Amino acid sequence: MRGNLETIVGAMFAGKTSELLKRILWAKHQNKKIIVLKPSIDNRYSNEKIITHNDLSHDCYAMTEWSKALKTFNFIKKEVDVVFLDEIQFMDTKETLHNVDIILNNGIDVVCAGLDQDSRGKPWETSSMLLGLSDKIVKIYGFCNVCGVEATKTYRKTLGGERTQVGAANIYEPRCLKHWEPR
Ligand SMILES: [Zn+2]
Repeated sequence: MRGNLETIVGAMFAGKTSELLKRILWAKHQNKKIIVLKPSIDNRYSNEKIITHNDLSHDCYAMTEWSKALKTFNFIKKEVDVVFLDEIQFMDTKETLHNVDIILNNGIDVVCAGLDQDSRGKPWETSSMLLGLSDKIVKIYGFCNVCGVEATKTYRKTLGGERTQVGAANIYEPRCLKHWEPR
């Protein structure tokens, strides 16, 4: 049987990594064998852990590219039950789609988390494609840092910089549509 793909998306600081971590803990309580991967571009706190903004963490493998992960792990049902992917927006679109599909076809479940949009409001390609492939989608919301209502957007507080700029609270914050503008 093909594995189940669940994708968790939302703006920055909505709690995506916390949701992922919750599922990691569930899987461990069920004695499932797991692999946790994140792109190595995300080294804001640590290279071998996924860490939530409120400091919960779990060990993970920081991968520079899929070929290295494929050499490190054997993605077969006998050896792994669930693969967790964090910060999917920074993973290569084509390679990620290709490999996630193979993993699912091997009967392994996949849970991924990441941003669905950048601070300009444009969809992130890898997240979009994984959403399209998903069996289950969870969209979570932060709260607007100006007025406190539900926030669907990531607002960039400083002008300029790369699209892939990895930033904590000094660069980005969640905002509602009324208080957000693309930048
Ligand atoms: Zn607002």
